[in-house]
Amino acid sequence: MTIAIQLAYLLASILFIMGIKLLGKTKDARKGNMLSAIGMLVAIVATLITLDILSFVEIFSCMLIGGAIGLYYAKKVEMTQIPEMVALFNGFGGLASLGVALSDHFLKTAVLAVEIDPVNSISIIASVLIGGVTFTGSMVAWLKLNGKVSGQPITFKGQHVLNLALLISFLVISVFTFLYQSDPMYITILVVVALLVGILIVVPIGGADMPVVISLLNSYSGMAACATGFILNNNVLIVAGSLVGASGLILTQIMCKAMNRSLTNVLLGGFGQTVASGAQDGPSIVIKEIGVEETAMLFDSVSSVIVVPGYGMAVAQAQHVIRELMEQCEKRGIDFKFAIHPVAGRMPGHMNVLLAEANISYDKLIEMEAINDEFPNTDLVLIVGANDVVNPAARTNPQSPIYGMPILNADKAKTVIVSKRSMGKGYAGVENELFGYPNCLMLFGDAKQTITKVVSEMKEM
Ligand code: NAP
Repeated sequence: MTIAIQLAYLLASILFIMGIKLLGKTKDARKGNMLSAIGMLVAIVATLITLDILSFVEIFSCMLIGGAIGLYYAKKVEMTQIPEMVALFNGFGGLASLGVALSDHFLKTAVLAVEIDPVNSISIIASVLIGGVTFTGSMVAWLKLNGKVSGQPITFKGQHVLNLALLISFLVISVFTFLYQSDPMYITILVVVALLVGILIVVPIGGADMPVVISLLNSYSGMAACATGFILNNNVLIVAGSLVGASGLILTQIMCKAMNRSLTNVLLGGFGQTVASGAQDGPSIVIKEIGVEETAMLFDSVSSVIVVPGYGMAVAQAQHVIRELMEQCEKRGIDFKFAIHPVAGRMPGHMNVLLAEANISYDKLIEMEAINDEFPNTDLVLIVGANDVVNPAARTNPQSPIYGMPILNADKAKTVIVSKRSMGKGYAGVENELFGYPNCLMLFGDAKQTITKVVSEMKEM
């Protein structure tokens, strides 16, 4: 039986690794997701059988209930709410690790009254600390992403001193928890400190830096699960936790590069504070508007187009009508591409997923580094609901919270049309000087509605 269980764990681990590998390419991502889900099913069933705590009927009833809840929320959630959902997943992962660590600690110290061995004790402490930080940190990220708490950084005097004090108490109380296992006071304080640290490291993080924090919390949730694997002596949990922890760290590094932030800043917490001082309103911008008919005429007269999609495209669900626009352009022999910024939207790969959903082929989606030199030779750039990722202040204004972030060079194209509803700001909460540039024209209105009208005009030409 034990060998069968270990083989099942091995199979699950192989499925996880293959799944993650396939997730690296958009076209294989669904397959990767499915393989990982099967791996998780194998791991759960094998674990429940080993523990011998439930009958098959109970196992499958629980899975049916859990699966139904998951299916309901997966169907109900809007594409724009996925980042919030990821934040919740991370948070609940952290909470689960914290819960397992506490129950194991109290089972051994209070119920069985046995000495916890050192490796187990260190694993419990790690799981409580990382799990607690992940839980409250993710809850704050969730509140910021869904707008229930301001996306602006929340800072106060003495914040860094408080963080340092908490870090020191973190270490001291961990040692006491290790030495005096049977005293419930120390582990209780440890939980409180971990929960507090989670809140305090995420509240000062401003809008534009959220992608980094989400991927970092994702990695933390994996590390917490890995520590829990050591507590439960469960190999598959150790493997799965390490995979999530490591891939989350790699993603964090990719996001850091995209945001031009250093990983040290991220790991120390409290980064992105320039947002507070830099969220200034610049001098008011004089803009030029363009209508639907003129836009269609412009599209009819150019030979190269780059579309820059952003969060607004997700809100408007404009991806399908943009595919129609692409078809109209290609019928006219126009070179048509998409420029993808790594942090466009609200989650890594957000734009790729939406455009793939609209059956736009992957080879049309060009990453920022590969396409940035092409903008000066492009006749027309259509920005659809993107703002921060094309804001030239990132290059020119050291006071701006997004200063230093690499952007798409959309402003360098011969003509730029910006499709958005108003002069509303982007996620970082700053004005976009591009809108006032001489080569920039504003096409106001919901992206789906206005571009639908542009496409109808083009069809009639
Ligand atoms: P953005 O800066 O958030 O701007 C989105 C724009 O879309 C807004 O200015 C809004 O202007 C417009 N918009 C909203 N609804 C629209 C609609 N129905 N039709 C047309 N336009 C609409 O978006 P972004 O350029 O994609 O930049 C992403 C930002 O989010 C970055 O600051 C990034 O750091 C941050 N972020 C990214 C992630 C990630 O992982 N990708 C995660 C968290 C945060 P109007 O209101 O005027 O329409």
